Amino acid sequence: MLNNDQLDRWDRDYFFHPSTHLAQHARGESANRIVTGGSGVYIEDRDGKRSLDAFAGLYCVNVGYGRTEIADAIAAQAKELAYYHAYVGHGTEASITLAKMILERAPDHMSKVYFGLGGSDANETNIKMVWYYNNILGRPEKKKIISRWRGYHGSGLITGSLTGLQTFHNKFDLPLSPILHTEAPYYFRRPDMNMSEEQFVAHCVSELEALIEREGADTIAAFIGEPVLGTGGLVPPPEGYWPAIQAVLKKHDILLIVDEVVTAFGRLGSMFGSAKYNLDADIITIAKGLTSAYAPLSGSIFSKRMWDVLERGTDEFGPIGHGWTYSAHPIGTAAGIANLKLVDSLGLVDNAGSTGAYFKQAMQSAVGEHANVGDVRGEGLLCAVEFVKDRDNRAFFDPSEKVGPRVAAALLSRGVIARAMPQGDIIGFAPPLCISREETDIVVDAMKGAVTEVL
Ligand code: PLP
Repeated sequence: MLNNDQLDRWDRDYFFHPSTHLAQHARGESANRIVTGGSGVYIEDRDGKRSLDAFAGLYCVNVGYGRTEIADAIAAQAKELAYYHAYVGHGTEASITLAKMILERAPDHMSKVYFGLGGSDANETNIKMVWYYNNILGRPEKKKIISRWRGYHGSGLITGSLTGLQTFHNKFDLPLSPILHTEAPYYFRRPDMNMSEEQFVAHCVSELEALIEREGADTIAAFIGEPVLGTGGLVPPPEGYWPAIQAVLKKHDILLIVDEVVTAFGRLGSMFGSAKYNLDADIITIAKGLTSAYAPLSGSIFSKRMWDVLERGTDEFGPIGHGWTYSAHPIGTAAGIANLKLVDSLGLVDNAGSTGAYFKQAMQSAVGEHANVGDVRGEGLLCAVEFVKDRDNRAFFDPSEKVGPRVAAALLSRGVIARAMPQGDIIGFAPPLCISREETDIVVDAMKGAVTEVL
């Protein structure tokens, strides 16, 4: 075991942390929490401090920490066969079984699963397949992809471009040119305070129509969106948003990629967000909740109508030239099987719905009337509190006041981990789906104390 001094030094000397202020970290000014264990909704750090993880890692440990069922499945798979690839028709029982389990849970018209390692590479696969599809259909000009401001779809070259948050573009020369962005369905930040929800939806639709008109529908291949905006602020769509957007896409023959990396497998109180919002997806992206992060695994689920074209393409042009060494890794897929069985046996989808509603209501009662709380919102076990300088005009705090990070720090000092979302003063909660009402009470009490302390 390394002692604390070694951990700190080796961390600074050797480890390049993702999404981190590197200089501050090198100077020892940022968090250096080294996590050593976890059980249920709690994690424990090297100093023996237990914290209630109300963001489930990065909203991924849906079944909670310390599930021996998944650990045992991983160990059994590793002993029997740690790896074989899935190229040119090869496979393993775990991968085939998990593909079937996913399709049994996905909307009926979905047809095949391609396995990757994380949400970013899955979305990368999706864009390549959309381009391939349009080439097979003889539409080589139809290639642009529309995403939304505040959407999050990863941080690769294409997926970082799809992401509509400045932090992920800053000094990386992103977004790349085939990617376009349109209005986020963010009613709280509507351009005109007097707009009704209905008027705001009409505004989002007219922005999308105008973009399509400007670029030409015959150049636009697909639209990508999360059912509920995640990293962009945990924002459920306004009533009527998705039906209206889907009507525009269908009219212009634009494919719909539904990014369910956060929402699939129960987070919103339904197995898929696509089912909840009645989305007729051409592709669904899945990751986090697929294995509850016990092993890295993602998937792209293709609709039958899209699959038929891809299959036909290979008859014309030969094998599809796309694959990762670790596509359908048996350890990941074994973890996925054990995880989905737990999601079912523990009733986590229903718990996300009922405990999520209880949690949001309690959060609203505890902090909703505070002079600097502009919005308490959520769906299932996603909940956000957005801070404003002035409730009447929804004015932002100056970023130098760091309200979000300070509230997150005050929560942590009370033993609760939440996330200061990357854009705006928004505190996000996305606890493991196994959280109980009593545990959400602990989170709400801590939030009440943290808000009072900071504001
Ligand atoms: N899509 C969504 C909606 C996400 O929230 C994320 C990650 O948070 C991704 C894609 C990227 O996934 P990963 O970090 O596994 O690459």
